[in-house]
Amino acid sequence: PPLEERLREILEKEYGISDEGTYQALLKLMKGWLKPSVPGEGISLTKDGSYTLIAKEYGEPYHSLTAGALSECVEKFLKPSGLLERVEGSKIIRVVDVGFGLGYNVVVMLKHLRDVKKDLYIEVLSFEKELPKEVPPPPEEYLPYWKLLWDNLPSFEKDGISFRLLLGDARERVKEIKSFDADAIFHDGFSPYKNPELWTLDFLALLTKLLKRDGVWVSYTSSLAVRKALKLLGFNLQSTYPVGRKMGGTKAGFEIEESLTEVEAQKLKNSPFAVPFRDPTLNREPLHILADYGLRVLYNKS
Ligand code: SAM
Repeated sequence: PPLEERLREILEKEYGISDEGTYQALLKLMKGWLKPSVPGEGISLTKDGSYTLIAKEYGEPYHSLTAGALSECVEKFLKPSGLLERVEGSKIIRVVDVGFGLGYNVVVMLKHLRDVKKDLYIEVLSFEKELPKEVPPPPEEYLPYWKLLWDNLPSFEKDGISFRLLLGDARERVKEIKSFDADAIFHDGFSPYKNPELWTLDFLALLTKLLKRDGVWVSYTSSLAVRKALKLLGFNLQSTYPVGRKMGGTKAGFEIEESLTEVEAQKLKNSPFAVPFRDPTLNREPLHILADYGLRVLYNKS
């Protein structure tokens, strides 16, 4: 059903709200949030010369077109994660990867960690709802790891790499993992408004149980809703270096220093948008999660 119809249903059924004013205000907010960020579909060239895919159903590319697909993996995930330095004192590194997509984040991480330490054992747990049908290959230097992954999906243990892909909704599959001890979580869903089920307080609470006490969670997003959820879970937050856009991403950890700027910290405290997405049953439809968030934004409720 179209957004208009579905939103009326959600408001009435879930919240007993039928007044036109609330409906119109919420509809306006949600239309803005759901507007596609790029047109088209299929393979697209990015700023650094590497390729990505545009997902039509989300109106978004798998990687930032302006940062460049491969640059995004390096600058927004691998470097901020601190894994390149962590390798020094480690025999094994464990990574949780949310939103496997084209596998670029994993490929980039495998290559660069192995470049630092040839005999490093790497264990990866990836979540992916649905693998894309066409996948552009990455630049040549990454091809061996890219092939290793795609030739052996969904799971393998080979050459000191243990890889497991959990297909399906990550909200369901994450419940199967009892412990993992991740050094880092790479959180790479589509953007929070387009893919809200991956960014709720409730999902993040389960997911971050897989993190070591001194592990870090990293993402490209600086969303206030996401940052607020991470704060509520007890994390300290840092902004990561901006690449291809104005705002940087976010790094969260229990044992890192909090270092948001004064302006960022104030926003997180006072902005009406700084309330977490909620999904207490872990199976709300994305529009419901977004409407629920929108209502709290409109009425300034936590
Ligand atoms: N990290 C990927 C890469 O480097 O190629 C790009 C990930 S793309 C931005 C987001 C991915 O999240 C998509 O592949 C999408 O299918 C996946 N996704 C969206 N919702 C999901 C869900 N509920 N559970 C698991 N994966 C999901």
